[in-house]
Amino acid sequence: MLFASTRNPLHRVGFSTALTQGLADDGGLYVPTDWPQLTPNADADDLAALALELLRPFVAGDALAVDLAGITREAFNFPAPLLMLGDNARLQVLELFHGPTAAFKDFGAQFLAATLTQARRDAIRPLKILVATSGDTGGAVAAAFHRRDGIEVAVLYPKGLVSPTQEQQLTCWGQNVVSLAVRGRFDDCQRLVKQALGDPGLRRRFELSSANSINLGRLLPQTVYYWAASLAIWRLHGEPASFVIPSGNLGNATACVWARRLGAPIDSIVLAHNANRTVPDYFDQGVLRPRASVATMSSAMDVGNPSNLERLVALFPDPAAMRTALRAVSIDDEATRLRIRIDFERYGRVWCPHSAVAAEAYARLAANERARGRWVVVATAHPAKFRETIEPLIGATLPMPHNLARLFERPSSHSEIEPTLDALNSSL
Ligand SMILES: *Cc1c(COP(=O)(O)O)cnc(C)c1O
Repeated sequence: MLFASTRNPLHRVGFSTALTQGLADDGGLYVPTDWPQLTPNADADDLAALALELLRPFVAGDALAVDLAGITREAFNFPAPLLMLGDNARLQVLELFHGPTAAFKDFGAQFLAATLTQARRDAIRPLKILVATSGDTGGAVAAAFHRRDGIEVAVLYPKGLVSPTQEQQLTCWGQNVVSLAVRGRFDDCQRLVKQALGDPGLRRRFELSSANSINLGRLLPQTVYYWAASLAIWRLHGEPASFVIPSGNLGNATACVWARRLGAPIDSIVLAHNANRTVPDYFDQGVLRPRASVATMSSAMDVGNPSNLERLVALFPDPAAMRTALRAVSIDDEATRLRIRIDFERYGRVWCPHSAVAAEAYARLAANERARGRWVVVATAHPAKFRETIEPLIGATLPMPHNLARLFERPSSHSEIEPTLDALNSSL
């Protein structure tokens, strides 16, 4: 299989190249050039076996094809359980937060790390991975790449703008991971990474790549849990599943759309955004108006110009076609807070602020639609990652899951830098 740039269908590369480069040279994002219809046989709860079947066609013809079994075993080493909410047989919660840093990004980060480690086996120079983060991505990437031979990671986060729990996850690594607190905002971190990737001087010093969700190696593995959940429902009820997905940069949602395109039994897909309304407005008006992000309580979704929209537009160039295939809604912080309180009282379910946006979007669906479908609300992070926000809302203390508790036992260290390429250059 070859992958084409969204900006030039003739610019095509193989799997290893797409993952190592991150972004295509023309600034586009890599997308599959072919959509085979897949019919996996593996058990829905054996994610590693399912991933091996599903991802094989994408790696076919690449040097890494022979390593795929090892890579999927290593990457899919924690579960994605589907659980009921109350006694509503038509609603389930897909928990994606049982990995090392308790957010769904662990799936993509672990797969990318396992793949790049194999791809760089015989490389002479180390690969330097730059990652800009507003909180969750950096922790997942650092955890997945920590102590990997031949790969170094620099995590850039906005100083003072991440939660204390998140900051510990970004700074507790050492060895091949450096943590840089940038005196600026998330947008500055992202700009610095883009500048660095295009800077001839830095490119002479290092082989550079990015681990943000522009990297195909984060998206492909995320299709696997949508397959797993929809197959489990299909095999049990003979009905397709519909998903409500907390969305920011649209990496998670794009993976769901790709799974459906590849034949997964998926019906509706609802993109649940917070007050950053760029995507819902695009759906309403058919015109894309990127804007600066606004700060909300679901900070990992504070994105004003979602990078993966370019991948969705590649599939649905006509806004009307996209509206038929997908829906998008915007939920504000007040409704999100209320949803967290209600579902805690009613079901004892504690949502993280991002998952609560999706739970509220589900609650706003028409009653007949909820009664007809087999709905899945996607829970993207463990609530304890956001305990400073959640505990006062529910009036209860959240126990730390052991994966997070483990990170708090590690010493933390970081450097502070100005938001300039010079400052980044001298700290790498
Ligand atoms: C990153 C993140 C999201 C948004 O996912 P996208 O792929 O950027 O749309 C939602 N929830 C949590 C907890 C996240 O960390």
